[in-house]
Amino acid sequence: MRSEETIGMSGASTEERRYASRRPGRLNVTRVRQVHQITPHMTRITFGGDDLSEFLSNGTDQHVALYFYDADVELPRPFTADAARALLPVARPRLRRYTIRQHHPERGEVDMDFVLHGADQLASGWAETVRPGDESIWFGPSPAYPLDPEAPWYLFLGDETALPAIAATLAELPATARARVLIEVADAAEEQPLPTAADVDVDWLHRNGRPAGSLLHEAALALALPPGAGRVWGAAERGVVKSLRGHYVRDRGLDRAHTHLTAYWTRGETQDSEV
Ligand SMILES: Cc1cc2nc3c(=O)[nH]c(=O)nc-3n(C[C@H](O)[C@H](O)[C@H](O)COP(=O)(O)OP(=O)(O)OC[C@H]3O[C@@H](n4cnc5c(N)ncnc54)[C@H](O)[C@@H]3O)c2cc1C
Repeated sequence: MRSEETIGMSGASTEERRYASRRPGRLNVTRVRQVHQITPHMTRITFGGDDLSEFLSNGTDQHVALYFYDADVELPRPFTADAARALLPVARPRLRRYTIRQHHPERGEVDMDFVLHGADQLASGWAETVRPGDESIWFGPSPAYPLDPEAPWYLFLGDETALPAIAATLAELPATARARVLIEVADAAEEQPLPTAADVDVDWLHRNGRPAGSLLHEAALALALPPGAGRVWGAAERGVVKSLRGHYVRDRGLDRAHTHLTAYWTRGETQDSEV
C-alpha cells in the first residue's frame, strides 16, 4: 500500500514528487468536526484539531490508519506517539485504513469518506454513529501513488472503497492527461461527481445485488486498452484485485511497474488479520 501531494503534483518535477512521496506520517489526535451523508452508503467525516495544522499532504491515494482502542482503555494525556508505544504491552489499537479524500490546509481539516457496509463492523459502525466533537486518533499519511506526466493514459479501477482515492487522484491530473475509469458501486444512488481537468471517461457499474467485484472484474477484462505504456491503478476486494493483477501483467503483458493494484478489503476477514 503506498500513496503523494494534494496540491499541484502534476506540475511538480520528478525530484519534487519523490520528495513529497516520502513525507513521513505522524500520530494525529483529532476531533470530528462534521459528519455528512454524501450518498446512501457513503459518509464524509471532517477531522480537525491542532495536530492537523502540521498535516503534510502526500496527495493522490494517500491513506491513514485509524486507531480503535477498546472502550475501557484509558489513554494517557497528552496522547503522543511515545505514549502510544508505551501503551502497547497493555492495549493495542485495532487499525483500519482510510484515504484522505481532501485536505483543507487553510482550515486545518481533512475529509475521509467511509463506505457504510455494516452497522456491526468496527470502522463502518463507528462512521454510522460518530458525532461532531468525538475524538479520533490516526497515523499518517502514507506515501502516495506518483503521477507520471509522461504517461500516455491512465486506467483507474475500483469499487466504492477506492472511490475516495480515485476522486482525489483525478482532481490532481493535469488537463493533458487521459484517463478511463471503471467504478463499481451498489446502485445509481452511489454515483458522485468526479471533478478533473483531465480528459476522463467514467463508467459507473451498478451492482444492483450482484456479488461485489463481479461487474468490475468483467468490465476490466473486456476493456480495450489504448496503445502505449499506460498506467493501471486499482483497488477493490482482495480476490478481484489478485485476478486483475494476473490479467494485466500475465495475460496482457503490461509492465508490472506500471500497474498498482491493491487489496482494500478481504471478503469474510476483518482488517485485523491484514495489518
Ligand atoms: C489503503 C486503503 C485505503 C482505503 N480507503 C478507504 C476509504 O477511503 N473508504 C472506505 O470506505 N474504505 C477504505 N478502505 C477499505 C476499508 O479499510 C475496509 O473496508 C475495512 O475492512 C473496513 O473496516 P471495518 O472495521 O468496517 O470492517 P472489518 O472489521 O475490517 O471487516 C468486517 C467484515 O466486513 C467485510 N467488509 C469490509 N469492507 C467491506 C466493504 N467495503 N464492503 C463489504 N464488506 C466489507 C469484511 O470482509 C469482513 O467480513 C481502504 C483500504 C485500504 C487498504
